[in-house]
This record gives sequence, structure tokens and C-alpha cells, in this order.
Amino acid sequence: MGRLIIVSNRVPAPRDRSQPAGGLAVGLKDALREGDALWFGWSGRQVEHMEGDPTPSIDRVKNVTYATIDLTRAQHAGFYQNFSNGILWPLFHYRVGLMNYSRMDWEMYLGVNAMFARTLRPLLRPDDTIWIHDYHLFPLGQALRDLGVKCRIGFFLHIPFPPWSLVRALPGAELLLEDMQSYDLVGVQTPEDAENLNHALRMNHMAERGQAFPIGIDPVEFRAQAEASMEGPEVSRLRDSLRGAQLVLGVDRLDYSKGLPERFKGYEALLSRYPEHRGRVTFLQVAPISRGNVEEYRQLRCQLDELTGRINGAYSEFDWTPIRYITRPISRDVLAGFYRMADVALITPLRDGMNLVAKEYVAAQDPADPGVLILSHFAGAAPELDEAILVNPYDTDEIADALHQALTMQRPERQTRWIALEKEVSRTTAVSWANDFLQALDGAPVSVSS
Ligand code: UDP
Repeated sequence: MGRLIIVSNRVPAPRDRSQPAGGLAVGLKDALREGDALWFGWSGRQVEHMEGDPTPSIDRVKNVTYATIDLTRAQHAGFYQNFSNGILWPLFHYRVGLMNYSRMDWEMYLGVNAMFARTLRPLLRPDDTIWIHDYHLFPLGQALRDLGVKCRIGFFLHIPFPPWSLVRALPGAELLLEDMQSYDLVGVQTPEDAENLNHALRMNHMAERGQAFPIGIDPVEFRAQAEASMEGPEVSRLRDSLRGAQLVLGVDRLDYSKGLPERFKGYEALLSRYPEHRGRVTFLQVAPISRGNVEEYRQLRCQLDELTGRINGAYSEFDWTPIRYITRPISRDVLAGFYRMADVALITPLRDGMNLVAKEYVAAQDPADPGVLILSHFAGAAPELDEAILVNPYDTDEIADALHQALTMQRPERQTRWIALEKEVSRTTAVSWANDFLQALDGAPVSVSS
């Protein structure tokens, strides 16, 4: 049996290698258990200068070889910060107006992808299967083909794929579609993403490649974690501090795709239009700062600081604060207990590839007394989790109505909805996602490899 080669921008850090965490590593745990595997990507380190191509550092844990390379500061800036996060990220989250295009960054992006291909090439064997991940590495498949690689190559896009009329705002977008032709299979999160991708390919007279494989979590492990965390000190402190108030919980990286200002205003509208909840509900938003050196993210932070201050200033009592807002990360193990405690999860991204927090919230619930999930129509998880209260995240009054409905929902309805949600979360897990993709890749017609 040939090896599985995983390529992603980031590779699990050495301390995490024996106990993989995070969607990708969790999903791959079965695939990585059997046979030999290689995981290739950026080490997370930046160096000032480099002569020629980097030499991969090799680290072997059991049957998996981790091969990581450093980037120069200039490569990191152009390829990662500017092109991947400053151009592709906003565009693929439908925010063309936030895209800061520069041809120099595009060239650096192509250059780093070609360098990835040159450094990976000598590590490959003819019967390997290669699986490339995410928007940082769209051109890698073609770059490998140009070096004569004939293995099966699959690609998975973890973020949304918007309609072609939006994607084409990127100068050279056709080249990204041409890159897709080098893959035997392209996986995306939802049927809508697959439709958009295949439509874009058709419009450009190229063969369709896209198929939906919604990513999931390990619900059994997460439920156990939530139960364990209920016994921990953090959950008791949170419970004591609420003094009987209902808990609404939001958990998101501090990113403009997550709809946080609209969410805060939605909660403000609840307090204003449904005064019976004042003093009886607390909204805890965990939003660890992400990409903090990028201007758009700094502005978002200012806006949220101001909104929190305004809402708390207007509605607080001397013994009650409506919003608790934390911009530091909280460990996933502790969060699991917070999810189980929360009466409502408020998850309202303007666009999201999947949103694993929504699935984690469902998995963490106590079946005897489950909480209510409020979820944006525009999360990739929405088509699967349609028994949640689905909202338009731009409509702050709709968010307020949904919050009122959730906070007053009786147990039988909460249970009926949760049973349906739980079924979905257990159906498409991290492991089934990886297995389904790899099986489809294995069976995909070899259209480009010869
Ligand atoms: N998360 C965490 N601590 C935090 C905030 C988030 O461990 O303080 C985790 C969360 O449990 C989830 C992941 O980060 O597993 C976020 O994944 P999601 O798909 O929701 O969003 P992304 O950050 O990938 O856009």
C-alpha cells in the first residue's frame, strides 16, 4: 500500500504530534494510523535570509514522518499574510471590498508554492497519494505536476467557494481554476460551494472537479471532554458567577467573517425589545485575537471594544453585567464544559467554511436538558444543522427574536431539536470526512496523472 502524503500550510507542532488535536489531525487519525505517512508544510518559523531552497527538518513519530520547512520573512509576508490572509481570505468569504490586491504578493504566493513543490518532490515515491489542504496551496498540485509527479493528488478547500462573479474580481482568478485541473479530486465543505466551483469551471470551459465533504468533529471524544470539564474548577466558577442567570455563549476567533458586531447589536436589541431578560441573562463572548497585526482586524477590535462598553454602560446594574467579552483563547477542554453549561449558543458568522464550534456545542449537550443552538444561514454547518434556530446574521432584530425564542424554549422542543442535530453531528465526523474523501480520491478517474 502506498503512503499518504498530507500537505498543509501548518503542520502540528512537535509537542502535539503524539496526540493530534484540531479538525485536520483528528480527521486523519485513522488514515495516519495505518501504513506509512508523511506530513509536509511550514514549520511556523521565519528566518531573515535563506540561500536557495530550505532543507526540510525531519521528525518521525511512530509511522508518521513530519517534514517542515522555514520561510523567510519576505515569503511569510507576501505568501501568508498578504496574499493568503489579505487577499484570498476576504474574497473567499464574500468580502471583495476588504481584498488588498497586489501583483507582487501574487508572485510571492506562486513562488512559495513552487518552492514547496521543489522541496517536497525528492521525498515522494511513485505509489504515494497526496492530499493538499486549503487556500494557501491552490497552485501546489500544478507545481508538482510540472516537476513530473504522477501520483494521485487531491485538494480540500476548508473555506467557502463563492460564485464565479465574485471570485473573478481576483486578477488571475482563471489561473486558480487551471490549477484545479491538476487535482484528481477537489473537496469543498458544502453542496453550495461545490456548485459554485463547478459552475466557475464550466464558465471557463474546464472539467468539473468539485464535490462536497463536510468536515466534522469527534463527537464521542468531545462529549466525554464536556462531561469531564463539568467537574473542573472553571465551570463551577462560571456557574457561581452567573447567580442563576441564563448563559448565552459565543466562541469565535476575532475575525470579520464571524459577524461579531452584528451579534453584539442583536443582543443589545434583545435587552431593548425584551426587557424581561434584563438581569436574567448573561452573554459570554470568547473571541481570541487573531491576525492582530492586520489593519482590518485592529479596526474590528476597536468596534467591539466600543460596542461592549456602550451596551454594558447602558444596561449594567451595580450587580449585573450584560456582556462578558474575552479576547484571550480559552482551552478547548474548558470550553467543552462551558458549552454544556450554556443555555444558548449564539453562532452568527456572515460566512464560514464550516464552523466547528456549532458541532462542538451540539456534541457537548446533556441529552436530558440540552441547550439551544442559534446558527447563521451562512455557516457551512447550516445545511446539516437545520434543526437549529437559523438566522440571517445581518438582521439584528431577527437575532433578538431568536434569542428570546431560545431563552424561553421549553425542554420538549429543546430535546426534539437536539436529537435531530446530534444525529447529524454523529453522522459526518472528522474521521468519516477523511475516509470519505480518501476513498473518493482513490476511486477518482485518473484524468491528469498520465
Ligand atoms: N477554540 C478554542 N479556544 C478558543 C476559541 C476557539 O479552542 O478560545 C477552538 C474551538 O473549540 C474550535 C476551533 O477553535 O475547535 C474553531 O474552529 P471553527 O471551525 O469554529 O472556526 P475557525 O477558527 O476555523 O474559523
